[in-house]
Amino acid sequence: MLFNINISFIKTKLIFMATIDFEFRNQIIQSDIGSTLAYCYQCATCSGACPVAQVTNGRYNPRRLILDALLGLKEKIFGRENAFSIWGCTVCDTCDEVCPQKVELTEIFTILKNMSVERGEAPDYYIIQASTILENGKAIPMQPAIERRRDQLGLPKVMSPDVNEVKKLLEATKLADKIKKEE
Ligand code: SF4
Ligand code: SF4
Repeated sequence: MLFNINISFIKTKLIFMATIDFEFRNQIIQSDIGSTLAYCYQCATCSGACPVAQVTNGRYNPRRLILDALLGLKEKIFGRENAFSIWGCTVCDTCDEVCPQKVELTEIFTILKNMSVERGEAPDYYIIQASTILENGKAIPMQPAIERRRDQLGLPKVMSPDVNEVKKLLEATKLADKIKKEE
């Protein structure tokens, strides 16, 4: 029992030692989607249903991420050492479906991911994938071997995207500048 009390005391101390960044907190809460954050009552239904939380034994934890965002604990969310706490999410939307409070978790996590990119902290795989889409108009460029195999199987040709059109759209999002910042 004494052991439990000490652990919870230490956890409480750690939370209060983290600095609250009100500007960051308001930035999220004042956005349309982020405002749903305030309805979270920490029931942990999202973490219980999250497949990533299950396979990582809770190392990735949507409930905790929501709490940190709600409290404005920016330093616990960002920084390369914390990257998995944001980027572990696969955007499967399971948490959104089960949340009894209709918190828009995945949209809030997208806001956090965008902030992470702006800070130059996106993981390498994100940069590689984004560059591939920028150059080819899609994430997995067609390869001659795959095309030959499809022909052999009698499958129809895969339509190629209009790369220039995709580039134009992505230029409007300043993706190229953001990727460059990361390299
Ligand atoms: S399921 Fe919804 S209310 Fe419960 S902890 Fe997750 S975000 Fe909060
Ligand atoms: S969207 Fe992300 S946080 Fe939500 S259940 Fe899926 S992997 Fe977990």
